Amino acid sequence: MTQKKPLPATMRVARLHEIGGALQIDTVPVPQPGATDVIVAIEACNVVPNLRNIITHWPQWHPEMPLPPLPGSFGLDAAGVIAAVGSNVHAFRPGQRVYINPGTGCGGCRFCRNGDILDCDSFTYRGYFGRGPATPAIFEQYPFGGLSEYVVAPQSCLVTLPDNLDYEQAARFGYLGTGYAALRKAELRPGGTVLINGIGGTLGVNTTMMALAMGATKILGVGRRRAPLERVRSLAPGKIEVHSIEESDATVRDWARSLTEGYGVDIVVDCLPPKSPAASTMAAMRAMRTGGRTVLPGGMAEALTLDPFWGLAKNAYLIGSRWFTVSEGQDMADMAGAGTLDLSCLEHKRFALADVNEAIAAAADSGSGFINVVVLPSAT
Ligand SMILES: [Zn+2]
Repeated sequence: MTQKKPLPATMRVARLHEIGGALQIDTVPVPQPGATDVIVAIEACNVVPNLRNIITHWPQWHPEMPLPPLPGSFGLDAAGVIAAVGSNVHAFRPGQRVYINPGTGCGGCRFCRNGDILDCDSFTYRGYFGRGPATPAIFEQYPFGGLSEYVVAPQSCLVTLPDNLDYEQAARFGYLGTGYAALRKAELRPGGTVLINGIGGTLGVNTTMMALAMGATKILGVGRRRAPLERVRSLAPGKIEVHSIEESDATVRDWARSLTEGYGVDIVVDCLPPKSPAASTMAAMRAMRTGGRTVLPGGMAEALTLDPFWGLAKNAYLIGSRWFTVSEGQDMADMAGAGTLDLSCLEHKRFALADVNEAIAAAADSGSGFINVVVLPSAT
């Protein structure tokens, strides 16, 4: 193991002791890295809106997606400084600034061996939940999420950060990356047109930021309330148009066609969360041009009423998309470093580790896709 200075013997970690309870600050031994692992001192960890559901309802809602065993450590999107590296780590060194992609595959199945970790049946989010036979072993090997002073992480999950990207911004990579991967699957090209359904929410705002960075020249945003829509439009008034389904009688399809020479958009990204109505997703899909692509990264969970003949006649693509690869994370870091990805619009709400439960409540109730709730474990 290589380290700059000795690691402390113990650390503070926020852990869940019972489902439905609050997280507690425990003191535990600092983990040791495996041969191909690193230890990262966490500077910022994002708190996703869904974390309150995870620690309150998840085993009841989704028993097939187990949580870390209790007392369990959570925290999905973390960034910090490498504090120590394992004996077989040659490409990283202590002192490097990194984002930690929490997505983990089993490592040995056909898809993991091909590098397609997202297609692993045991794909697991460290510090969140998993689904598959290898999930318990992954949690045992990597027991700490980002709501800890230190985590152990595989070197293969690290994204190196440019100096101009701060830790709070990097902790937003989960949503940014989910949007980026969806746009890549839809093959967004410079000059492309994108309709983002649910543009005012967290995934909608972050997908918009990525679409701008990737060169989309027309972004059509659909949502309910006017004020959040106008806020998103202000990011790039010459490129973004917005449509309130509460205020307009026009269908999303007719509105989109009126702004695309009658064709419809190249890409629809459905960013609606699980409890949204399927009718809204269907209305957005009808705004696709012939040969267009609809991507579904949001998790809207109601059944769609699809007419296969419509899909045939439209020559349409319908694409599922979950999370993003480490390589895509590195793309985003490099884009931020070069200035093509602008993250300055994020509004950070910072919390100390001791105030983690307030952070979880704030994230669940934030109401704006621009708000980035972060816990700073290194702050006292
Ligand atoms: Zn696998």
